[in-house]
Amino acid sequence: MKHSQVAFYCDFDGTIAERDMVGVILRRFAPPEAERIVAEVNAKRRTVKDGVEAMFGLIPSNVFPDMEQYAREQTKLRPGFDAFVALCREKRWRLTVVSGGFDFFVYPVVAPYRDVVKVYCNSLDATGAYLKVKWGVPCDTACDGGCGLCKPTVIRKTLQAGETLVVIGDGVTDVKQAKLADFVFARDKLLAECKALGLPHAKFETFYDIARHSYLAVEEA
Ligand SMILES: [Zn+2]
Repeated sequence: MKHSQVAFYCDFDGTIAERDMVGVILRRFAPPEAERIVAEVNAKRRTVKDGVEAMFGLIPSNVFPDMEQYAREQTKLRPGFDAFVALCREKRWRLTVVSGGFDFFVYPVVAPYRDVVKVYCNSLDATGAYLKVKWGVPCDTACDGGCGLCKPTVIRKTLQAGETLVVIGDGVTDVKQAKLADFVFARDKLLAECKALGLPHAKFETFYDIARHSYLAVEEA
């Protein structure tokens, strides 16, 4: 039976948090030049890593305390996360949060669940004149690079032999990890990519959907 060997790898921005908090922060604190960088990343003329570093590099470090407070106030969770964590605890499923976002808004959300949830995310260095991104897990040699925080690298480092890999996410930065998965819970752009690539998946809107269908994922994978 695979039931005791399931490992969920879950995105944060737009997944656990209803909105992309990196985008929310940048819209509030980055100067207008950042829009050009967003367009370059979306057009794939620039990697996510370079784009995010460049945008935070436009923001003076002295706004960091305001940024932390703003991000915490603005983080709204997708319904059902608490119930899903409880299910993982009960079933002894591993749950890893892998976020391209930052510790100052991810950690407060997962703080009540640290007994079951493992977290990989990034931080900001505010010791210089401008903010500097410190990536939690850089790309390994098996990745084609440019991720910033490299989700497939986290999976390669931490997935245990015999585990069924289930990925939960919403965005283009989840595609590389979705390609490694036995099953994907997807919404938004990741859902379209799963359909286009023919990956085994189900769509979700809340974590109640995922909790209900997790048996299906475990059976199908
Ligand atoms: Zn990578």
